[in-house]
Amino acid sequence: MKPKLIVHGGAWDIPDQFVDDHVAGVKTAIEQVFPLLEQGCSALDAVEKAVNILEADPTFDAGRGAFLNAQGNIELDAFIMDGKALDFGSVAGVANLLHPVSLARHVMRADDFRFLVADGALQFARECGMQEIDPKELLTERELSFYHQIKSDTSFKTVDAFSGDPQPSDTVGAVALDQYGNLACATSTGGTPRKHPGRVGDCPVIGSGGYADNLLGAASSTGYGESLMRVMLCRTACDNLTQHNAMNAAIGAIDYLHRRVEGYGGVIMISPQGEYGFAHNTPRMAYAFADEGGKTHAAIQITDN
Ligand code: ASP
Repeated sequence: MKPKLIVHGGAWDIPDQFVDDHVAGVKTAIEQVFPLLEQGCSALDAVEKAVNILEADPTFDAGRGAFLNAQGNIELDAFIMDGKALDFGSVAGVANLLHPVSLARHVMRADDFRFLVADGALQFARECGMQEIDPKELLTERELSFYHQIKSDTSFKTVDAFSGDPQPSDTVGAVALDQYGNLACATSTGGTPRKHPGRVGDCPVIGSGGYADNLLGAASSTGYGESLMRVMLCRTACDNLTQHNAMNAAIGAIDYLHRRVEGYGGVIMISPQGEYGFAHNTPRMAYAFADEGGKTHAAIQITDN
């Protein structure tokens, strides 16, 4: 099969001055990882590598550059799913890793669990020999000043970030189809700004922040997690593939998100036949994909709502 790769870098009202960084970030992920897929790399390796690149990029709310929670701490969530084995790994509330999605991958290989949180997740990261870092290494000047700006602002509402008020929300994600016909997805986030300590969003929740099944399709999402979970956005998008092409499946899932729970977000997906789908009802979404000839299309999609 012709391999496919699509990534996103969040769906929100991305201000004009941040557009170039977002486009460059998602483009780099495709340019570095798509050639590997063409050389025979697995879909699972590809989504992990693509998300690792986006986690290391301070532009996005994942790994370095993550939001601070209400107490001024970083808590990262991540998810990875293998469409061939129909298996997944999830982590939530980790702070000492640049690449939580790689911990999720280790979790997926574990014998007797698939979802680890907080201290237990960190303990497992150590057992797996992952490099532990000081959370300060994830902190950016931009997020620190944003935290101070909103810390005691009683008018600040997280959902506004997605529906039009330009506040950041740059979760990252990737979906791949490899030449063996296997699908995979991965998603990584710092969650929402000023979130309650211990708050976990859609990202590591199977079917919400991501879903991959070789027989159905694969998807990764971004948006207001409290709404995305209620409609299991990624599973809904994959289910839509039984009746629609990938683009209409993505559009239908976002329509459902808005119609049923007035939710805001975006989704990227690939069908088992290799069609791309992407849709969002936020003002903008950053995404990139590789076309048939391996050329990268990177864009901030702008929708007039
Ligand atoms: N979905 C993420 C969350 O709610 C946030 C985002 O996509 O930016 O944790």
